[in-house]
Amino acid sequence: MAENKRLLILGGTGEAADLAERVAAQFTGRLEVTYSLAGRVQPERGIPANVRVGGFGGAQGLADFLSEQGIDLLIDATHPFAATISANAYDACLSTGTPRLSLVRPPWTLPPGVKFLEAEDMADGVWLLSAFAKRVLVTTGQRDLDILADYPDIHFTVRVIEEPSDPLNGENITLITARPPYSLDDELALMERLNIDCLLAKQSGGDISVSKITAAIRRRIPIVLLSRPLPEPGEAVDSVGAALLWLESHL
Ligand code: NAP
Repeated sequence: MAENKRLLILGGTGEAADLAERVAAQFTGRLEVTYSLAGRVQPERGIPANVRVGGFGGAQGLADFLSEQGIDLLIDATHPFAATISANAYDACLSTGTPRLSLVRPPWTLPPGVKFLEAEDMADGVWLLSAFAKRVLVTTGQRDLDILADYPDIHFTVRVIEEPSDPLNGENITLITARPPYSLDDELALMERLNIDCLLAKQSGGDISVSKITAAIRRRIPIVLLSRPLPEPGEAVDSVGAALLWLESHL
């Protein structure tokens, strides 16, 4: 009997977890699945796969992992802002000849008339909002927050999933921790309670964190969205269903 093929899913998103579940339901007996997490935050649900946690050691480390583990196929289902691991996956798959698919959720499309600006990065985003905002809700994650201290006249409420290992400096910054999904009512109440007049967020797309965007639109609060990094070249889909079809065509 032919051996099962081996799939590596680079995960850390709801879509990656959904994919692992649907692969388990559809391909048991045909695919052996390893699901990889960076280990920054605890996964909120069990994953029906061999779960490994932690970095590979760059593109070469990932290439070695693919060879040593006899991985036949790789699906990069990481977050659209996780640019380093995606670049490493591109390089590692190229050097080992491993077929690779990117599963990337579509970006949000904001309706016409919504007050929103796009920014290249945090420095650009904070500079843009400094022209009009005084009380900002920041949901961009743990990175590049130092810039906030350079704007002492603006108060920033920074929401992260888990407390950063390095404390945030700046009297104008309040840190709150919470885990998505957030309901629309909760987002509306948070913005009202904190008197938020601007939302600074990533162009993450997807359903899990869209309620803050909806709440800002409803409260007519301007939104500054950090643009996504450029994706790696190669095959890409934007739904779990399409990723399953890709897998089917490679077995
Ligand atoms: P990143 O900047 O692209 O990656 C930094 C390093 O973390 C990589 O070089 C790699 O280390 C390791 N890494 C990242 N994802 C990994 C994975 N799935 N499995 C094993 N190692 C991984 O990534 P990030 O932005 O810090 O995101 C880390 C994880 O959180 C990703 O899995 C991503 O899907 C998830 N996530 C990110 C965001 C976001 O906004 N960035 C939001 C939600 C979830 P080595 O070089 O040592 O291999």
